[in-house]
Amino acid sequence: MKRNTTIAVIGAGIVGCSCALWLQRKGFSVTLIDQDDPGAGTSSGNAGTIADYGCVPVNSPDIFKRLPNLLTSSDSPLSLSIPYALKHPSWMLQFMANCREHKVSRIIRILGKLLAKTYEGLDPLLDMAQARDLMQQNGCMYVYQSEQDFVDANPSNQARRAQGFEYTELDRTDIANLEPGLKIPFERGLLFESASHVLNPQALCQRYFECFQRNGGEYIRQRVVAVEQDIDSVLLRLDNGGNLQVNRVVVAAGAFSKQIAGMPQRTLPLDTERGYHVQFSNMQHLLTRPVCWNTAGFYATPMNHGIRLAGTVEIAGYGNALNQRNIDFLTRKGKQMLDLPAQPDQEWLGFRPTLPDSLPVIGYSTTSEYILFAFGHHHIGLTLAGITGKIIAELVNGEEPSHNIAPFSPRRFL
Ligand SMILES: Cc1cc2nc3c(=O)[nH]c(=O)nc-3n(C[C@H](O)[C@H](O)[C@H](O)COP(=O)(O)OP(=O)(O)OC[C@H]3O[C@@H](n4cnc5c(N)ncnc54)[C@H](O)[C@@H]3O)c2cc1C
Repeated sequence: MKRNTTIAVIGAGIVGCSCALWLQRKGFSVTLIDQDDPGAGTSSGNAGTIADYGCVPVNSPDIFKRLPNLLTSSDSPLSLSIPYALKHPSWMLQFMANCREHKVSRIIRILGKLLAKTYEGLDPLLDMAQARDLMQQNGCMYVYQSEQDFVDANPSNQARRAQGFEYTELDRTDIANLEPGLKIPFERGLLFESASHVLNPQALCQRYFECFQRNGGEYIRQRVVAVEQDIDSVLLRLDNGGNLQVNRVVVAAGAFSKQIAGMPQRTLPLDTERGYHVQFSNMQHLLTRPVCWNTAGFYATPMNHGIRLAGTVEIAGYGNALNQRNIDFLTRKGKQMLDLPAQPDQEWLGFRPTLPDSLPVIGYSTTSEYILFAFGHHHIGLTLAGITGKIIAELVNGEEPSHNIAPFSPRRFL
């Protein structure tokens, strides 16, 4: 059956590459399709953290209280295009509805359970792709400038702990001892001691991709423009006029997953939380682990080629123009935190794929038994890619998935 089942994965980001490798592990022959180089999209520019403690969503019961300040302050990691929000009110309204306390608690529980399986999905891929040299396990630190910031974050931190993600609380001296490169004093902090990070996120995708090709995987460098369902197969129409008939399709095109014509459930409320990074080459010696300045909404991560400051959330749609305000914000904050040169060497914008309930969509589409969805991993796609790939491969293989995927079903939006 496996030899006769042809599978295409649309999207060679970290999620698509992870699905492709897991499918190969199960013995399937896979075609990966992307218009770009593997991992060149959002998966290239993230903060690199394997944030298995990242179960607390952006949705929050106190967002209504904090929103006016977050949106108007020049020192805020959140920005919103009012014209875009007015044109697309539905996502915003659904997002707000998911900020109610009981909804947030539910999201935390569901994400917590999936995140607990992070390494069950990731480790086999790292071994298969010989990519362990791209990982570093030295913990991850959250820092708070004032005692009040720390107290305000306490409910979120306790929620992480309740899900089993342990941390050590730090005071000013602990922080300075652990990260002497920090310029300003941070009063309080947390250390997730067992956390790890990726030293070059795009190189990780490329390593997966090389392994995929070694295993006989086929790559088509094209954009999929349409998906057409047949009686027992799916036809993919490509940008160059060609097409591909396959038995199963995994849609892993990140934030762009519903922009393909003929996609079942194009009405899914998938939108994007834009995020930015600035990178300073050869400055990685300033930190030994990712440091998240919590109220500033970004991580400073030491990577192979420099320090990357990555984060912020901008609700403004899919245009490619960088918002200079966000670049300036990250640069200013980064320089406040670390002894960095005047200007970064790299400025980057990425598109987090986000559903308004901050849960990914993983599983069969509701209208086709041949099309599977694997997208919507918002702030934690690098972390969840491996376990998502494992679940997708189990589904395609006809197995009972090793994790309860009911909460991730696209049905929840019907
Ligand atoms: C600033 C920032 C920091 C982040 N930090 C972290 C972090 O520290 N840890 C973490 O876990 N996550 C982090 N994330 C989130 C993470 O980067 C994303 O969730 C993840 O990269 C999404 O991966 P993906 O494969 O779904 O999407 P993508 O990486 O966007 O890949 C989708 C691919 O699909 C292709 N594609 C799209 N449409 C088509 C089509 N029609 N035909 C063919 N191909 C198509 C694209 O070219 C692209 O290569 C961060 C995100 C941002 C923006």
